Amino acid sequence: MDQVSWLKRRKPRIKDAKKLDVPDGLWKKCDGCGEILYHKELEKNLWTCGKCGHHFRISADKYTNILTDSGSYVELLTGLESIDPLGFVDSKKYVDRIEAAKKKTGHNSAVLTGSARVGGHLVMLAVLDFGFLGGSMGSVMGEKIARLTRMAVEERVPVITLSSTGGARMQEGILSLMQMAKTSAMLAKLDEEGLPHIAIQAHPTTGGVTASFASLGDVIIAEPGALIGFAGPRVIQQTIKQDLPDGFQRAEFLQEHGMVDMIVHRKELKSVIVRILDFFSDDARDRAEDTLEQARKQGL
Ligand SMILES: [Zn+2]
Repeated sequence: MDQVSWLKRRKPRIKDAKKLDVPDGLWKKCDGCGEILYHKELEKNLWTCGKCGHHFRISADKYTNILTDSGSYVELLTGLESIDPLGFVDSKKYVDRIEAAKKKTGHNSAVLTGSARVGGHLVMLAVLDFGFLGGSMGSVMGEKIARLTRMAVEERVPVITLSSTGGARMQEGILSLMQMAKTSAMLAKLDEEGLPHIAIQAHPTTGGVTASFASLGDVIIAEPGALIGFAGPRVIQQTIKQDLPDGFQRAEFLQEHGMVDMIVHRKELKSVIVRILDFFSDDARDRAEDTLEQARKQGL
């Protein structure tokens, strides 16, 4: 058989192979290393790649499940919904974008707020949903986070925020920017009351959210490889007219430069947060004071 007829004979077989359909969603290609990952395995690894550690972007619902004690999460402040104060239209109407995002995510806004137990500790939890208009912060997100923080002050419990966002929502103009001041002011109040805020930065955490509550944690935790910054690298490069260092604006770079306290794999995220909550708890404070008191009595 000459080479040409051999190729001709092989061709249909290759076509046949293509017909073997893989059920949709059974496998997923890793964006980090290209490995083909089995969906069940991916779910077991909390949507991180077992080979290279790449963290896939996940919804606020999934994060809420991962972080909270089973059955303890109660969603709060669900009634707040965006209005369209500027009558904003770009390629689509803002109101249409909101409607589409609501349908897609099943939620009214880009942040889920609620109370929950984490390792037994009662907390107020705010989780941004990148799937809802890029997790952008408009008036509703700002108001929900401010109110949730006020509730934390009243209940004397910690606040945990998890960010995954493109920043302030341009469709609400300056009203979105004002949320930076509002959330920061309420977190300052939380701080005055001696209550902790744990800020988790997932990929990506940028713009006005980085410039406000996402960077105001007593402890700032980032997911590995997360892009964290205010303006994007291209804008910075054009402004300062200098090349940027390798890994610029990635979680690891920010930790090296003191902007992030810890980088925690998603599989360890809950246990690390429980340890931090244990550390900040009244019990721990009482125990520390007892130890100090005893040491004083013993003249140490
Ligand atoms: Zn991978």
